[in-house]
Amino acid sequence: MRKFLLFISLSILVNLSFAQRTIIHCGKLIDVTSKNVLANYSIIVDKNIITDIVKGFANPAQGDNVIDLKNKTVMPGLIDMHVHLEHETSPTAYMDEFTLNPSDIAFKSVVFAQRTLMAGFTTVRDLGGTGVNISLRNAINKGVVPGPRVFTAGKAIATTGGHADPTNGYRKDLMGDPGPAEGVVNGVDDCRKAVRQRYKEGADVIKITASGGVLSNAKSGENPQFTEEEMRVIVETAKDYGFKVAAHCHGAEAMKRAVRAGVNSIEHGTLMDEETMTLMKQHGTYYVPTITAGKSVADSAKKPGYYPELVTPKALAIGPQIQNTFARAYKAGVKIAFGTDAGVYAHGKNWMEFVYMTEAGMPAMEAIRSATVNAADLLGTSDKMGSIDKGKFADIIAVDGDPLTDINAMGRVSFVMKDGKVYKTEIENWK
Ligand SMILES: [Zn+2]
Repeated sequence: MRKFLLFISLSILVNLSFAQRTIIHCGKLIDVTSKNVLANYSIIVDKNIITDIVKGFANPAQGDNVIDLKNKTVMPGLIDMHVHLEHETSPTAYMDEFTLNPSDIAFKSVVFAQRTLMAGFTTVRDLGGTGVNISLRNAINKGVVPGPRVFTAGKAIATTGGHADPTNGYRKDLMGDPGPAEGVVNGVDDCRKAVRQRYKEGADVIKITASGGVLSNAKSGENPQFTEEEMRVIVETAKDYGFKVAAHCHGAEAMKRAVRAGVNSIEHGTLMDEETMTLMKQHGTYYVPTITAGKSVADSAKKPGYYPELVTPKALAIGPQIQNTFARAYKAGVKIAFGTDAGVYAHGKNWMEFVYMTEAGMPAMEAIRSATVNAADLLGTSDKMGSIDKGKFADIIAVDGDPLTDINAMGRVSFVMKDGKVYKTEIENWK
């Protein structure tokens, strides 16, 4: 008798009936709320909701489905607070803007979304693209394509020549003046208009580029690019429309202005100083580090010709610093939510961030909490996500091994359930 493990990663092959309950037998269950690992527990799922968590391996009633995860570590579905599902790093990325149609971007984004879900990320925040990310979210929500729950910014908001100005580095006659509809604002009226435009287009969250950035075809990777007044107006308008605001920031001055203006999260935060950390703690601002992106852009910059001339020195200087900033911010007690900037590196490797976070001194349990409890808090969806508790969405994953003793186990996701539906599982066949 030989034992074969057959991996099935297509949702269509796993057709769980919603008429009955699903009982998940968990050998180890990471309880992110109590910070304990529970041995031999069962999760009861009815349709898309967790209805109970009981000690021992509960017996199924007639018609119940049983999922055997007795030899796995089970935890809540992971949440990445910073991804870009429309694209993935490539040496042709800067030329792609002139060659790809929205439909080309859409096909790729479907693949990236599926890869993200299969890596155990059941929810993501997409912090900027062309607007295809809004259609992608809609298609996923309707069940047309598999993917994580997406909270999308649509197009990011920048100032003229700022990090998310979509025409940076273009020939002059192609640059034009994109304006608030395209996410380029100058002055408070434009700021209001851009936020309202995002609302009209169906975004879930507002992303601004408060400082220069690494991958934009522009000189500075850290200069402040909004006035504090402009950001204050963005935050105020965003509140009126139920949006939270995420601020891309590398430089300390831009970060301080953004935090004082009331943004909900600082993305990257590379050159964060003590004063900024104190301000963030006072304001309850989250830090979304994206260490993986920093390391990845520094690696890519070493390949000749990979990035434009203006980008390479920024990638080499800024990228490698994020891990150390993260270590200092964590020690200082700044609130951390997990985010990786996937797309800047290959989608599906989001779990690498766990390795970098623990390398920098964060215990594995805290790193997992940053991608569950904290991320749900930053999204404002703690009542439905972020832990395996009664009444929450059945977003449940399992890994082979124990990530609390070997963080690389986060890269061995062998079971994914989102909204009560199984997208990835392992079936044991005996021959
Ligand atoms: Zn980003």
